[in-house]
Amino acid sequence: MSDTEKCIICGSAAGTLIDRSNLYHHCFYKCPNCGNFYVSYKFYHKKPQALEEVRRHAAVISGYIREMNEIGHHSKCLTSTLWVSILNDELVPKTFDEKAMKLLQYVERRMGRTGEPVNLYHGEQPALCYASSKDEVLLLIGMMTENGYLKPQGDGFYILTEKGRDFLDGKEIMVIEL
Ligand SMILES: [Zn+2]
Repeated sequence: MSDTEKCIICGSAAGTLIDRSNLYHHCFYKCPNCGNFYVSYKFYHKKPQALEEVRRHAAVISGYIREMNEIGHHSKCLTSTLWVSILNDELVPKTFDEKAMKLLQYVERRMGRTGEPVNLYHGEQPALCYASSKDEVLLLIGMMTENGYLKPQGDGFYILTEKGRDFLDGKEIMVIEL
């Protein structure tokens, strides 16, 4: 397996890929979109049809792994049973509005105490809000900006506005004007 192999979930070029399956029974991926995760040897080599299924649900699986990485639960191991449980996890957004909320939460988390603008990569990392494509992220970013929850700072960077904070604090209900 080479370093340039694509991420088995989202198809992005994996930053690092180490096959330790003969030693540790897993392969390690470091994906710019999904984050870090492991795949069990059994799953990777013996379950091609399950991997196909994972790819069909790539937006949810890579979004979930990304969120786990973001909140400090690193290195999720993808096994033939775990990926199915991800689909039903309560963290996973079910609606467009919930994806928008994930986007705002991501910006809030990344801004932290410093308040520095956050790179949204011009939509190139859809996993940060469980989006299914770059276009969907751009749509979400555009809507959140137009409705005053995010404010662009140039070159793909954004900050959460006061309105965005109030919404995440539960002081305001999101009203999206399409
Ligand atoms: Zn990936």
